[in-house]
Amino acid sequence: MSETIFTKIINREIPADILFEDELCLAFRDVNPQAPIHFLVIPKKAIATINDITEADREVVGHLSWVAARVAAELGVADEGYRTVMNCNEFGGQSVYHIHLHVLAGKVLGWPPY
Ligand code: 5GP
Repeated sequence: MSETIFTKIINREIPADILFEDELCLAFRDVNPQAPIHFLVIPKKAIATINDITEADREVVGHLSWVAARVAAELGVADEGYRTVMNCNEFGGQSVYHIHLHVLAGKVLGWPPY
C-alpha cells in the first residue's frame, strides 16, 4: 500500500505530540481535535482499513485498545469516560488509510454521531 502521513509520523519525518510508543504502536494527539482530548492510536504496521486486518494482526489490533485505555488513564480521563472510534472507508469517514483508533474525551459526547 502507499505510504500515508502516519508512516511519516512513525518515522519522525514530521512532528507529532506523541503520548505513547512501544514496539507495536504509537499514540499521538490529533492535529484537528474534535474534543478537548483527542488522540490517535496507530499500529506501526501500515494496515489501510479495518477490512485489511488479517489473523496475523490480531495481537496488534487488540493492543490498540489497551494503549487507548492506558493513555486515557495517564491523561486522567479514564474514570469519567471517553469514546474510541475506528472509521472505515468513505461512508465511515476515513481520511487517512492507515488504521487508527480515535480516542475522544474531556466532555460528554453526543450519540448518534451524525
Ligand atoms: P479519519 O478521518 O481517517 O478517521 O481520521 C484521520 C485523523 O487524522 C483526523 O482526525 C485528522 O485530524 C488526523 N490527522 C491527519 N493528518 C494529521 C497529521 O499530520 N498529524 C496529526 N497529529 N493528525 C493528523
